[in-house]
Amino acid sequence: MTAASGNPRDIAELADLTGRVAIVTGAAGNIGRVVADGLAEQGARIAVVDLDATRCEATATAIEASRGVTAMACAVDLADERATRAIAGRVLDALGGIDILVHVAALVSAEPLPNWTTRFEDQSTDVWRRALEVNLTSVFVLTQACTPSLRASGRGSVIAYGSTYGVVGPDWRIYEGTDMGNAAGYAASKGGVIQLTRWLATTLAPDIRVNALSPGGVFRGHPDSFRTAYEDRTPLGRMATEEDYKGATLFLASDLSRYVTGHNLVVDGGWTAW
Ligand code: NAD
Repeated sequence: MTAASGNPRDIAELADLTGRVAIVTGAAGNIGRVVADGLAEQGARIAVVDLDATRCEATATAIEASRGVTAMACAVDLADERATRAIAGRVLDALGGIDILVHVAALVSAEPLPNWTTRFEDQSTDVWRRALEVNLTSVFVLTQACTPSLRASGRGSVIAYGSTYGVVGPDWRIYEGTDMGNAAGYAASKGGVIQLTRWLATTLAPDIRVNALSPGGVFRGHPDSFRTAYEDRTPLGRMATEEDYKGATLFLASDLSRYVTGHNLVVDGGWTAW
């Protein structure tokens, strides 16, 4: 039954991913692991893409054990164009198609790299360039490599993870009294992801839907002063949890959003709504 018949499908059917294949990059990371598991819960077979082979294997094994679907480990450095491009063929060979691409992987602000989240005057172009490669260029490369399969799927959906820092500048007041920082390269890469999403959405329509999902800050043992300041500045009064991204990712991946493309779904407790 289709929506066009005038007989709307049930929510359970719209959210069902049985038989679909989802590539999730950064799937061994904090948010990636949770959203990959959520897609598997809805029946999707999963390609777990991340840097480290052992973490990819462990994540794929955990998904298979808890959700009863096939999950393959696919260790790749997304800064390596050739290896990134090859993901599409590896997944096609192993799982027989590609219906969903969720690009979660990123060089994040918490990364303890030299000259990354230091004061602006010390931030380096080396790490800026790596951020652009991993966070932005790999979205271009991987989407390009997956496009034939996503087209063939008939319900192809690309979800690129942005960030509130791709939408607004940092409010430096919440960092006061901490040694935390915020990288210009991160913000620029995420702003690029959001605009690349719009470009891809109109270019790949009507065959493939392309949307961005922009999280706000997830609590991970931040200093009390930062957490309190963050909560005070957030309309919903708390930092995010990984679980907050499960439903939003499923929405964009599934037929729940089949008339949505070119959108940036901001999931930030209202941080950017003031
Ligand atoms: P995370 O660091 O836990 O996970 C990121 C994953 O990406 C890691 O598993 C890492 O190994 C992988 N990765 C990094 N570089 C890679 C590379 N070169 N090749 C392959 N994989 C690579 O981060 P997270 O908190 O789960 O964030 C997930 C996404 O959400 C990111 O895109 C991030 O920018 C975005 N986001 C997070 C927050 C937050 O507060 N955590 C806020 C806004 C946006």
